[in-house]
Amino acid sequence: MNDRTSARRPGKIVCVGRNYRAHAAELGNDVPREPLLFLKPPSSIIHDGEKIVLPEASNQVEYEGEIGIVVGRRLKNASEDESRSAVASVIAINDVTARDLQKSDGQWTRAKGFDSFCPVGAPIEPPQDLSTLTVTTRVNGVVRQSGTASDMVFPIPFLLSYISRIMTLEPGDYVATGTPSGVGALVSGDLVEVTVATPAGAASTVSSGV
Ligand code: MG
Repeated sequence: MNDRTSARRPGKIVCVGRNYRAHAAELGNDVPREPLLFLKPPSSIIHDGEKIVLPEASNQVEYEGEIGIVVGRRLKNASEDESRSAVASVIAINDVTARDLQKSDGQWTRAKGFDSFCPVGAPIEPPQDLSTLTVTTRVNGVVRQSGTASDMVFPIPFLLSYISRIMTLEPGDYVATGTPSGVGALVSGDLVEVTVATPAGAASTVSSGV
């Protein structure tokens, strides 16, 4: 960890669970009535080309490709319009999860918080309509997840507004907006790539060896 990497860390990473119907269903869960929020520690961040480290405590580490938002302006009790205009950039995020520990712990902090469990891609400019963003996850070159923000249970401006009524979003904070269906386990030797793209062809990709 060098100083330059530390300086690029967000103050917090706010994550949304079960924000796509098909993914909630594949894990046997209902869609929540309100956004289901949790946090990942900034120390879990790695960048493109860095390795996901499988912890000894888990036998089931899974990828979750997600559309990530980088907040550009302070948001507190913000409207959806204010929230939309405060999106500085969009990034690919892999919300790596120790699924066995997520189930056994109840609380998600350990399962989601190991070092290297938050690969992030380089920022791209957000499209005018955030619901046009897509996310694709490939493992060893094979597409395993394919989603669009238009399928989210809670759209991105709603999520940012909702979060801002609980905790102030600061410039540089990340919001991970949930994963579509198709999650699965990673094993040593895998290569997992998450790509978030705009209709205009801009793309943020984070590629991680395991
Ligand atoms: Mg997730």
